[in-house]
Formats: sequence, C-alpha cells, structure tokens
Amino acid sequence: MDCRTASMLLQPCFDGELDEGTAASVRAHIAACADCAREMAALQALRDAMKRSVPRYTAPQSLRDRLKQPIPSAGPAAAPLRPARRFPPPWLAIAASLLLAASLGAGLAWRWGPAGPAPAASELLLHDLVSSHLRAVAASSSVDVLSSDRHTVRPWFAGKVEVAPPAIDLSAQGFELVGGRVDYVGARRVAVLVYKHGQHVIDLFVLPEDTPGMTGGEATAGAVMRQGLSLVHRRVGDVQAWAVSDLDSKELAAFGDALAGAH
Ligand SMILES: [Zn+2]
Repeated sequence: MDCRTASMLLQPCFDGELDEGTAASVRAHIAACADCAREMAALQALRDAMKRSVPRYTAPQSLRDRLKQPIPSAGPAAAPLRPARRFPPPWLAIAASLLLAASLGAGLAWRWGPAGPAPAASELLLHDLVSSHLRAVAASSSVDVLSSDRHTVRPWFAGKVEVAPPAIDLSAQGFELVGGRVDYVGARRVAVLVYKHGQHVIDLFVLPEDTPGMTGGEATAGAVMRQGLSLVHRRVGDVQAWAVSDLDSKELAAFGDALAGAH
C-alpha cells in the first residue's frame, strides 16, 4: 500500500470502518511509514482532546429505568419508517459543533501534521471538507443532481442551502461540471458542485461567510495539502468557495484560478 492510499484510509481505519484485511494493510503501512504514523497520531490526539474537553453527563436513574421498559407494540398510528439517508446522522453534526466549541473555548493546542501550530477553527474546517469529500467519494454516488447543464444544477439547490452556488461552465478549461449535492460542513448544509478533470473528482464547497475558520476575503494562492488531498480557497463573485480533490496541487490551483476568473 502506498502513502496516498494509506492516507485516504487513515480516518476510516481509525473509526473502525474498514474490513479486517484492508485495516491490516493500513496498520502494516503505518508501522513502516513515519509520515502516516504521524497522521494517525494526530487523529488519536484529536480524539483524546475531544474526550477531555467535551463534558459527559450521566443519565438520571429514572431515565435509565424507563429505557429498560419494554417498548409498546406499534399501533396503526406509528410513524412510518424513514428511508435511509446518506447524510450524516444528527449526532455527528452535534458532535462536530461540540468539538468546535470545545476547541475554541479550551484553546485546544492541536497540531495537524508537521507544519507547525495551526489555528483550530480553520484546521477543523479543512478537516470537515476532507471528510465530506472522502465520504462522498466512498459512497456509491457522490452526486445528487446529475447534470452537466449549469442551468439545471443551480436551481436544484434553491431552498436546500443558505448560499446558492455559482454554477460556472469550465469545460473549455478541461473541468467538466457533472452535478451537485448537498453536504454538511460542521452542522450546516452547504452546496457542493462536482466537477471532473480526467478521472479526478473535484468537490467545490460553497460556504457561508460566517463559517468558522473561513478567512474573510483572503484566498490561498496555492493549494494546501491534507491527508493526501489538495484544497484551494477562492472567492468566486460574492461567495466563498473551497475546492477539494485528489488532483495535483498545481492543477487544483489552476481550477481555482479559472473559477475565480470566469466570474
Ligand atoms: Zn505512508
């Protein structure tokens, strides 16, 4: 297993979501690779910090007793089963916002990678973007509305997200719009436009201005790297956007520039 593959599998491995064979391969790689071992240690440090910072509450005895009662059989008025959704469950959003609050409140000293101290909120934003991207790529379909027609994609988001995405045609520059989806960043639903460049998928997250960790109007000139993925921040017209991809960092920066220039 190479570093790129290992890096993408670290988080699911840490969360115990891999089959035993794949997990063993990841562990074998970590045992032999200092870089990946460091990333795994950062995940462990984050989990430890969460355990220390987030308060735990013990349920009162009355509630515990009630939970042990047999569940009454469902009558005809029982709520219908909801269809399975691939959005993260609400507890995940709650956990994410608790973590954010905890890290801001406690001045969580947490390092991501060897590049020195990182501001917690913007690191958590990058972490969220990477997680959303990996979750979508791992899902059978990473696109909710499948269309290369930006006039179809943009209206599809109406009423679903706070900030409507600027659906920009970049096919002339080699970046093909394939559709979009609604995803979570922190506890918020945001629009994601999905582009393709060759075999590479680019997720373009369109974020509200007041997203924690968002750096005002500034944009990163080059790409930043996290878990083997490239991330680029651009202001596109009057919205803030982050692109995430396994594309080479220079190519993703070119995508960002094309995007910013096209508006
Ligand atoms: Zn490695």
